[in-house]
Amino acid sequence: MDMDIKVHSESDVIVAGGGPSGLIAALASARAGARTLLVEQYGFLGGMATAASVGPFSPFHYDDQQITMGIPQELVERLMAAGGSTGHLKCVPEYGSGSYMAYFDREIYKKVAFDMMKESGVNLLLHTFVAGAVVEDSKVKGLLVANKAGLSKVLAKVIVDATGDGDVAARAGAEFKWGREADNLGQPMTMFFEMSNVDIDQLKKYIDENPDDFEWMSDLHSRVPLPPHMNQRYFVAQGFRKAVAQAKANGDLDIGRDTVLLQSTMYEGTIVFNSTRIGKLRGTDPDDFTKAEIAGRQQAMSLAEFMKKYVPAFNNAYVSSTGIQIGVRESRHVVGEYILSEEDAVEGHRFPDVVARGFFPVDIHDPTGAKGYEAGGSTWIKPKAPYDIPLRCLIPKKIDGLVMTGRNISASHEAHGSMRVMGTAFAIGQGSGVVAAVAALDGVEPREVNVRKVQEVLVGQRANLELDRA
Ligand SMILES: Cc1cc2nc3c(=O)[nH]c(=O)nc-3n(C[C@H](O)[C@H](O)[C@H](O)COP(=O)(O)OP(=O)(O)OC[C@H]3O[C@@H](n4cnc5c(N)ncnc54)[C@H](O)[C@@H]3O)c2cc1C
Repeated sequence: MDMDIKVHSESDVIVAGGGPSGLIAALASARAGARTLLVEQYGFLGGMATAASVGPFSPFHYDDQQITMGIPQELVERLMAAGGSTGHLKCVPEYGSGSYMAYFDREIYKKVAFDMMKESGVNLLLHTFVAGAVVEDSKVKGLLVANKAGLSKVLAKVIVDATGDGDVAARAGAEFKWGREADNLGQPMTMFFEMSNVDIDQLKKYIDENPDDFEWMSDLHSRVPLPPHMNQRYFVAQGFRKAVAQAKANGDLDIGRDTVLLQSTMYEGTIVFNSTRIGKLRGTDPDDFTKAEIAGRQQAMSLAEFMKKYVPAFNNAYVSSTGIQIGVRESRHVVGEYILSEEDAVEGHRFPDVVARGFFPVDIHDPTGAKGYEAGGSTWIKPKAPYDIPLRCLIPKKIDGLVMTGRNISASHEAHGSMRVMGTAFAIGQGSGVVAAVAALDGVEPREVNVRKVQEVLVGQRANLELDRA
């Protein structure tokens, strides 16, 4: 059968998946001089941020120090210039939110991402699903893809697995792990949704006047004046404990959490909910994924009805959008040449083969139950300092021709809890894109790439590796 499958194209580098990590990887690879193809299942880029309505961008900062720079920062600036992002807002206090967050408009993001691909010469193949890997002697030589033309192959010298789920690595036979050591359970899935026509004055007043009803809340402040259409109060809050308990007792609410986590969006009057919770299912199992989508929508609509009935600020609100798909926080951890550990993240470890830096707290939503951080089911641990993500975490054991990126790199469940957010996924993307390009252009395997050269290219692309640290 394989002999009959036609080759669609050949490139230096193929990036499989156009989420935050994949889109930055494709830009970094193309700018490093490699002929680069980006393959994406949807008709737009952005991954969880655009497909699952996830946002805002978690910090590019550790405390007030900006860690993620380079192409990710350029993306934020392009979004700001297009009127599509607030830029980095400071969270006060940072507990539960991270030190800064950047709100963005999903539709402007989709357009700006395409603009940047075009300017950098990235070739795109959209509406194309990666169904398999073309492997010879443990080396990945291409992808088997499915689209409107049926099955075809796309070939390249180096492939970047940016599917978030390690789909390419799994199809190539790479070893991977799932979730935490004790029971192999990963973080729950969540269906994001937005409600519009919310009475923000009333909502904010309730939050400010009832701190006991909330586990945590933050206000967000811009350090520079915002354009008039973005000039509003930005906030995030996790709570409504009393109403949730009452509604659950009345049989009026079906969500997997004991609190509601909501926050503002770019547009005053529209609130986004990170509050549904579907645990113990795997986003890479098609039957589980189907169950999770159905349960996610059921919880989203149940929560929206609850908000309208129990929280006066939502009396006249309506559901204005839901994710195109449920958000998948965690799936395969592909076992690489090095496994990033919780200690590496929390202690701020450094590595000579650094290609990106992490800094976000270890943020693990309760894999089995409804609890928040305070109640002990979920985890929030701030690293003592930013940490390095070494090249070895991007290289799967025993498989050549393949570079991992984003949330499926080689890391423990706990380290993943820190590096999984978009500020870091973007930075890892820049690292993996340059690794892939340098390997392809030098004709070497990613595991043999000249690290110093990779770091020089990254620094030339304004990535912040802090190579001169003592
Ligand atoms: C519910 C939830 C809430 C979150 N909250 C935040 C938050 O507030 N702030 C924050 O910064 N981060 C948050 N995150 C984390 C963040 O969104 C992700 O970790 C980040 O998107 C990871 O980027 P990625 O590029 O590795 O993967 P993804 O974003 O998952 O992107 C993968 C891309 O690959 C494509 N793809 C996958 N498989 C295939 C295939 N087989 N063939 C073709 N294409 C494929 C997908 O369509 C997608 O475009 C949250 C995540 C979730 C799920």
